[in-house]
Order: sequence, then structure tokens, then C-alpha cells
Amino acid sequence: MISLTLVQGSYIVAALLFIAALAGLSRHESARMGNRYGIFGMAIALVFTVAAAVIGVNGLGDANDRSGSGLTGFALIVAAMAIGGAIGIWRARRVEMTGMPELIAMLHSFVGLAAVLVGWNSSYETDVPYPAIHDAEVFIGVFIGAVTFTGSIVAYLKLSGRIKSAPMMLPAHNAVNLGIIVVSVVMTVVYVAMPHDDTMVRQSLLFAMTLLALFLGWHLVASIGGGDMPVVVSMLNSYSGWAAAAAGFLLSNDLLIITGALVGSSGAYLSYIMCQAMNRSFLSVIAGGFGVEAGTVSSDVDYGEHREISAEGAAELLSSARSVVITPGYGMAVAQAQYPVAELTRQLRDRGVDVRFGIHPVAGRLPGHMNVLLAEAKVPYDVVLEMDEINDDFPETDVVLVIGANDTVNPAAIDEPNSPIAGMPVLNVWDAKDVIVFKRSMATGYAGVQNPLFFKDNTQMLFGDAKERVEDILKAL
Ligand code: NDP
Repeated sequence: MISLTLVQGSYIVAALLFIAALAGLSRHESARMGNRYGIFGMAIALVFTVAAAVIGVNGLGDANDRSGSGLTGFALIVAAMAIGGAIGIWRARRVEMTGMPELIAMLHSFVGLAAVLVGWNSSYETDVPYPAIHDAEVFIGVFIGAVTFTGSIVAYLKLSGRIKSAPMMLPAHNAVNLGIIVVSVVMTVVYVAMPHDDTMVRQSLLFAMTLLALFLGWHLVASIGGGDMPVVVSMLNSYSGWAAAAAGFLLSNDLLIITGALVGSSGAYLSYIMCQAMNRSFLSVIAGGFGVEAGTVSSDVDYGEHREISAEGAAELLSSARSVVITPGYGMAVAQAQYPVAELTRQLRDRGVDVRFGIHPVAGRLPGHMNVLLAEAKVPYDVVLEMDEINDDFPETDVVLVIGANDTVNPAAIDEPNSPIAGMPVLNVWDAKDVIVFKRSMATGYAGVQNPLFFKDNTQMLFGDAKERVEDILKAL
């Protein structure tokens, strides 16, 4: 048997490593180190959890002794880890950077499903020391897990474009959400208060609540529109953390509780930061668009004619520019244009041009998506600025290169109060002397809103794949 003190000590070390990982991940420079701390912490957690499960735990009196599952248990755990690990490695190696958001949404759904299964499994346990607390843990764990499960599946479908990103507004959708939450609270109280020998009624209650929570998860995320999806992704991240913490209570695993709480609270804080950056109400978004009317997309507005430019023309403009700002978006990730963009930055800087990047907080499809791509291509961190740091500098900028960005540079967010992205702060690129937009067509961005920027007098469109067009500019320079 392994000593309980040793297991708990290893959990404390792992928890500290997870906290160090979160601290590291909050800055570009330390992000790699942060990842290593996280991997190391998880390795310690896995080794000691499996050891405790297989050879058993002793210490602190008989009540805390737990016998292990022995060789059969070990074989089963190794088999499960091998199958899960193989699928995980296979998916992670195959996924394109652009597919990361939906992969993450899918992984959140697994955490939710695991919490539901753990909760249902625990509902059959009868010899628990504190039955009322245990019952409440079962009910709450299954509720959070089920909401996370279906919510993440809808997020996966929306992010991968398999269903429309526009918000689905059922009549009285706020009342439906509120009603389900109230009914679930009442059911929790009844479940906890009910005598344990009433198994049939208790399991029926749990089943009914599971169905309601599955519906709520689907409905909450389906009601949130394209432009607000970034907040949903971080919110589901947070829910998956709370679902893991709930499973930790049911399995009496302290580390799972701590890790779940770390993920839950950091995800909630990230959602809050993103809501602030997008000028959205945090409560409204987590309540499935509570108090928000769906904006209207008017396709018949005539913004006039757009102008086009060639790669050679763009190279000429850049040759005579003194200050250039590059605002990348999701299209840069699709085209994998970050490498030629980094090379263009290097060449222009060698010629004495002041080149900087303006990163919108929701550019791309993941928080920090653009920063990761630019770091991968070795763009120096000090020229990569946040939206707030660069927005006032556009009037003094000669050329802005909008590389595959659309919603994040859309003036409709400011000028059109009925637009679905109204109120979202955007990069004010149109204030620069010249704007060159790299994209393949006049198609709309993720929120499905036409972009009046493309029709402004100082904007020119450079059509084609962003990577190829930047390479053409490099040749022409
Ligand atoms: P958008 O998604 O608004 O637009 C991307 C543009 O890239 C498209 O208009 C597309 O135009 C163009 N594009 C696609 N492929 C290529 C290519 N190979 N070469 C050149 N251009 C290409 O991007 P933004 O980054 O500006 O905005 C992000 C949007 O995603 C926001 O609405 C945000 O709310 C949402 N979102 C963000 C998340 C996050 O966490 N960051 C998560 C979920 C959603 P065309 O087809 O004509 O080429």
C-alpha cells in the first residue's frame, strides 16, 4: 500500500505546478515554460492516482485505508489509457491549427460526459458517510456535466461550420432557461430530502434532471450569436472545470477538485475579460444571450464599389511607407500566412519601416490564436500590440495590411446600431492613410455581416490566398 501522506503530498506538488503553469501561460515569453509545468504536474498526478488506485492507500487510521484494485485493475487502467491516449495523439497530430477551437470544444464535451457518468455511477452508492451532501454532489455534478456536454457539442458544430453561427431565438427563450434552472434547484432539494429506499423515484428524478440539463446546455449555446462565440468557448472551458471539480467531490479526489476549480475560475475570468474587450455583459452571455435582441443583417445596403490592388501595387505602397500596421485575422490562420508575414515584417524593418501588429482580442477562433501563430513564426513580441495599445495610432499610420481579418476590423460595429456585432470594439484601421485587405472574395466574416471597410475610399482589396499574395509582395519588393 502507498501512504496517504505521500499521495496527498504529490497532489500538493501537482497543484502548485498547475498554478505555476497558469502563471506561465499568461505571458508570451513564459508560455512554453508554463506548458512544461502543466505537463510535469499532470504526470505526477497520473502516476500517484494510478498507484493509489492499484496498490491501495493506507495511513491516518483505518477509515482512510483503501485497498487497491490489484493487477486486474492496473491492466484495465493501462488499457483505457492506451486507447484514450492513442486516439488523443492521433487527433492532436492530425488537427490543423484552424481546427483547434472545435477540437477543444469537443474535449470539453468529454469532460462534461465524464462528470455525468461519474455522477450516475455515484448515485448507486449507498454506504456514504454523509448521504445528504453526497446526493447534492451527485445532482449538481450531473447537472453541470450535462450542460457542459451538449453546450460543447453545439459549440463544436458552430465552430466547425456544421450549423449556422447565427443565434437561435426560441420564443421566450430567457423564460425557458430560467424555468429549467428553477425546476432543477427544486428537484435537487427533493432528491436530497427523499428517503434512500425510494430508488425508483430517485432515479427517475435524476433522469428527468439530466434530460433538462442536456436541453439547457444545447439551448444556452444555440442562443448565442457568431460574434459572441469566443466568450462561449471560454465559458464552456470554465464549465468543464466545474464539472471536473464536481467529479472530484464524488470520487473523493482532492487534486481533481483543485484542478477543476483552477480551470473553472480561470475560464470564468477569461470569459469576463473577453466580455469586457467586446463590450458585452458577462451575465447576459452566460445566461444564453439574456436581455439581448438578435441583431439584423441587412444584405441590401449599397456600400458602393470596391477598389482592387495588385501585389506589385501593394509592394510599391509599402516601399514608400514609414509606418505599417498589420492586423491579422482568421484568414491568416487558414492560409498559414504567418511565415511570409514574418518575413515581410523582417524585410520592411530592415529598410527602416516601423512595422507593428494590432491584435484584436477575438481575432481568429481561439483566445490568443494570432499571438500563437506570430510566435510560431518568430515575430518579435515587442511589435505585437493589443487593440487598445494601437487603436489611437492608426491616424499616423501610412499603410495597414488587413491579413484575413473581417469582423474585427468592421466599422459596422460602431456605425450600425442594429448590426449583430454592434457595440463590439474593433480595430479602427480605416483611420490610416491606406488600407490593403487580403482575402479571397467579398464574402462576410464569421458573424455573417458585410464589411463597409471594403468600400471606403482609402481601402483596396488584394484578392487571393493570403499566403500566396504576401509571397508575391515579397518577390516584388
Ligand atoms: P473573420 O472570421 O471575421 O473573417 C476571416 C476572413 O478571412 C474571411 O472574411 C475570409 O474571407 C478570409 N479568409 C479565409 N481564408 C482565407 C485565405 N486563405 N486567404 C485570405 N483570406 C482568407 O475573422 P476575424 O479574425 O476578423 O474575426 C474573428 C471572428 O470569429 C469574430 O466574429 C469572433 O467573434 C469569432 N470567433 C472568435 C473566437 C476567438 O476565440 N477568437 C472563437 C469563436 C468565434 P474570404 O472567404 O473572402 O477569403
